[in-house]
Amino acid sequence: MPAILEPPIATDAVASLTSITKRYANGVLALDDLSLTLRRGEIVALLGPNGAGKSTAVKLLMGLSAPTAGNVRIFGADPRNTDARLRTGVMLQVGRAPEMLRVREQVEIFRGYYPKPMPYADLVKAAGLEEIEARFFGQLSGGQKQRMLFALALAGDPDLIFLDEPTVGLDIEARRAMWTTIRALAARGKTVLLTTHYLEEADALAHRIVVINKGKLVCSGTPAEVKSISLGATGGTATSSTIKIIRCVTALPVQNIRTIPGVTQAGLTDTLTTLTTTRPEATLREMLALDPTLHALEVQSPALEDAFLALTK
Ligand code: ADP
Ligand code: MG
Repeated sequence: MPAILEPPIATDAVASLTSITKRYANGVLALDDLSLTLRRGEIVALLGPNGAGKSTAVKLLMGLSAPTAGNVRIFGADPRNTDARLRTGVMLQVGRAPEMLRVREQVEIFRGYYPKPMPYADLVKAAGLEEIEARFFGQLSGGQKQRMLFALALAGDPDLIFLDEPTVGLDIEARRAMWTTIRALAARGKTVLLTTHYLEEADALAHRIVVINKGKLVCSGTPAEVKSISLGATGGTATSSTIKIIRCVTALPVQNIRTIPGVTQAGLTDTLTTLTTTRPEATLREMLALDPTLHALEVQSPALEDAFLALTK
């Protein structure tokens, strides 16, 4: 067959937003030229502060809201396409369900909507519903409600799963259990887009983090790359493992420290100097040579939290 008849689109692209702008009727610009591609078997965390546009991006991918400009595709089709929707599972940020139906009944009803639902027992296990199957939704705690809504999202054994802040209200144990399930889904080739403002969650779970702020892409990459980018290592040779945060008490003025090779930022709080460097050994050697009184030295690897705050300022 001639090469020209091959499909032009990468076959592992499961969902995409291309140059999306979304302006709501009240004039708010929620997304501003955002592009995002989700591939098979990938866990992507959409990270950003409140109002960044995370939920808007999810609603567009679900076909619940139409873009002002740009193109939305899931499984190569419009997100309102029925076949594409049957392969998609969703847990919305403000999820609702009938109060007076039992957990078991709701899960069974949802399974009935899909051609090849996940077995009921697998759903109970995946979402941790063992103790609450017979309870009415209205009688569940916040975290238990989240778990049932997670089961509903998985009821159709979807290939593409949208989870909008899924672990809000869960205790540590339930959150870890949900992470384990999400990892197992990805290992089976499912694609997961989750939004979160828990930096720790994105770091622990995602293959790729996409940081947005005020509707715009700030950066995207592996958790290590996001840390590296945000802390100023744009030279291409530094990796996150070479970036360190140094704290010490020193007589050197901050403006002098900023000129030392490798230093990307420096500041003084009370008597403590904090700086970020891409060349920790060289930076420290120079500082120690310049200031023999330097003491209370601490060297740390950057946390994702620091990276994130730097990015969304
Ligand atoms: P996030 O999920 O990151 O907190 P959202 O996507 O919910 O952000 O919101 C992005 C921006 O769009 C916010 O300024 C929000 O107030 C606004 N917004 C969200 N939904 C609507 C809506 N239905 N109508 C008008 N403005 C909205
Ligand atoms: Mg939201």
